[in-house]
Amino acid sequence: GSYQSVALIVGVTGIVGNSLAEILPRSDTPGGPWKVYGMARRPRPNWHENCPVEYIQCDISDLAQTQSKLSQLTDVTHIFYVTWASRSNEAENCKINGLMFRNVLQAVVPTATNLRHVCLQTGTKNYIGPFESFYNFESHDPPYSEDLPRLKVHNFYYTLEDVMFEEVAKKEGVTWSVHRPDIIFGFSPYSLMNIIVTLSVYAAICKHEGAPLMFPGTKEAWNCYAIASDADLVAEQQIWACVEPNAQNQAFNIHNADIFKWKHFWKVLAEQFGIEKYGFEEGENRVTLAERMKDKGPVWEEIVKKNQLCPTKLKEVGGWWFVDTMFGGEAFISCMNKSKEHGFLGFRNSTKSFVYWIGKMRAQKIVPN
Ligand code: NAD
Repeated sequence: GSYQSVALIVGVTGIVGNSLAEILPRSDTPGGPWKVYGMARRPRPNWHENCPVEYIQCDISDLAQTQSKLSQLTDVTHIFYVTWASRSNEAENCKINGLMFRNVLQAVVPTATNLRHVCLQTGTKNYIGPFESFYNFESHDPPYSEDLPRLKVHNFYYTLEDVMFEEVAKKEGVTWSVHRPDIIFGFSPYSLMNIIVTLSVYAAICKHEGAPLMFPGTKEAWNCYAIASDADLVAEQQIWACVEPNAQNQAFNIHNADIFKWKHFWKVLAEQFGIEKYGFEEGENRVTLAERMKDKGPVWEEIVKKNQLCPTKLKEVGGWWFVDTMFGGEAFISCMNKSKEHGFLGFRNSTKSFVYWIGKMRAQKIVPN
């Protein structure tokens, strides 16, 4: 066929990778028709089989493997970098994530003769600092705008940007964009950070045990205004940046452009799982999700079996550390003005987005109905 654009999604089974893989092949997607290569570390999972992308299994932390697999993709015009690796501290995160991105760019940039654009996804931690310094490091004063200076702390997002600037400069005419979502609502049982699947699994376990659905976070997290980024919306902004001349060589925040409160969403979550008793218990001793769920592996196995779910391990779908971190204090709000002023007017109703992705987790048999 004759394609207008050829995408390489790096991290196709991840939370935004999955949305890109669904949206790019559609006939009405801007910049299309798109041919799509989707790459990830593990073999193609069965929940991904119906997606019309050419699947490539490759571990991008391995230079030789990345060179041999990706340098064959000479027709790639756009790279969507939606992946990361987690290590025990941020200095290590900088090393491994810088290496992975450089491996990809050094394999593709010299060989893909028609390469036009690289989309890099980072996030709001750009303005807050890494997880290890959350809530105890003096970061910028929110709402965060894209032009704020870098913080004086290790941050693998800065490493990724610098690697991109260096490698893209080696070929004339290649442009870039950086996309900074907040907490993402999307589909992927393979994501390192997926609040939708984590909360759904927690709620399913509470329902199964007849326990109340208690909010595991702090009072600040329960009461504050919060924001989220719908994975489809993040993908839409990235695709927009590929075709909009005004968006070249720019960084953009991306969230749903509304606000919500977790205390309101808690009612929605309880209703979705048919739980009558739910809420927040004020007190000195916060019981984190990690503590609440530490012995529930066998319970989850039972739920999976009883409901004939897609087989998953609790440690894969229960991202307790992530939700515990996000619920540790007030939310961090970034500003959508720059994105709007450059012409991206997309938005989502966060309540509908929350319910939609829980529904998708169910439809794909990751959590029970
Ligand atoms: P993810 O964890 O959902 O998906 C990662 C994908 O990359 C998966 O397909 C995985 O198989 C693949 N992958 C991992 N290691 C690989 C390797 N060595 N070789 C090949 N493929 C590999 O990713 P994400 O959450 O979309 O993260 C992308 C960026 O977005 C990160 O910088 C993250 O910090 C940021 N972010 C995420 C969220 C969120 O809520 N998930 C929110 C804001 C920002």
